[in-house]
Amino acid sequence: MAQKKDFYEVLGVAKNASEDDLKKAYRKLAIQYHPDKNPGDKAAEEKFKEIAEAYGVLSDPEKRQRYDQFGHQGVGGASGFGGGGVNMEDIFGSVFGEDSPFSSFFGGGGGGRRGGPSVRKGSDLRIKLKLNLEEIANGVEKKIKVKRYVACNTCSGNGSKNGTSLKTCSTCNGQGQVRKVVNTMLGQMVSTSPCPTCQGEGKVVTERCDVCFGEGRQLNEDLLSIKIPAGVAEGMQLSMSGKGNVPTRGGIAGDLLIVIEEEEHPELKRDGGNIVYELRMNFADVALGKEVEVPTVGGKVKINIKAGTQSGEILRLKGKGLKELNSYGVGDQLIHVSVFTPTSLTTEERAILEKLRISPSFQPKADKNDRSIFDKMKDFFH
Ligand SMILES: [Zn+2]
Ligand SMILES: [Zn+2]
Repeated sequence: MAQKKDFYEVLGVAKNASEDDLKKAYRKLAIQYHPDKNPGDKAAEEKFKEIAEAYGVLSDPEKRQRYDQFGHQGVGGASGFGGGGVNMEDIFGSVFGEDSPFSSFFGGGGGGRRGGPSVRKGSDLRIKLKLNLEEIANGVEKKIKVKRYVACNTCSGNGSKNGTSLKTCSTCNGQGQVRKVVNTMLGQMVSTSPCPTCQGEGKVVTERCDVCFGEGRQLNEDLLSIKIPAGVAEGMQLSMSGKGNVPTRGGIAGDLLIVIEEEEHPELKRDGGNIVYELRMNFADVALGKEVEVPTVGGKVKINIKAGTQSGEILRLKGKGLKELNSYGVGDQLIHVSVFTPTSLTTEERAILEKLRISPSFQPKADKNDRSIFDKMKDFFH
């Protein structure tokens, strides 16, 4: 056994890291090295256990103090998995469902396990949903196809041939769990785990349903309709409860988690609740003024560009931005005027410009209201 690594090093945090820092660091690493994400990768599994152990100690103020004072010796006996410190539900929410090998490894999260079989919850499903800016701005109802496990309709989900041939499990006497005494390098630990014979159900199937082979569930493609509220953003997660997988042989379905992805708009850029648009104009148009059409998330809008508008000026279309999620607030669209300089000229154009360049009104004026672009941007964004 190699020498144990420093717990702070394992989590990549400073010695004075706050509880929040610890939790964040742990969550990030645990997701990265989670066995579900690294099937069959022993090194990742080891790393994962190491991270869990480190967090188990450092997240408990008392253990952390002992560890700071005495190092690994100070927490040796009290640590180990299932030692109370790590609450997986707390960290992951319901991201990893009952079907994950990890939830049973840590003794399950729900709390319902102790005291016999209880209602089991199926695993959550996670899908990505790409939305364009217009859909984000206005909200949208999407129809999506989801492959999920639903209760077998032949056996009504209990996995048994005629729906009745279930008997009490003899390994656990219907308790759904077994107790084991395990010798570890940290001493003896008593662990309770789901019964291997009945997988925690307390009952076993004697004659299997032909359709689902005793699983009690079958894969089905569901067409679901999802209402997306206006104002969602990249990475946000919506959940539809009960639209995940049904567990084997009865129980309640997990949730369907919908992760939002933003499709880039060719012309409009999102900045929080505001929309930024770059309006390219030629010099003659800004000098003379012009009515132009600009795209917004609500469709095209005509705006008047005043004669004498400067390059870099920012115009605001109030309320043409995005609605704030769960609020009445709404952002603006900012139009950034950018004057285009021609890159090649005909002889005739050149002759006109040669005349204009010496004309008095073409000489730049120092205007005391003409602040730097930097100052203007600051005003708009803060
Ligand atoms: Zn069946
Ligand atoms: Zn059993």
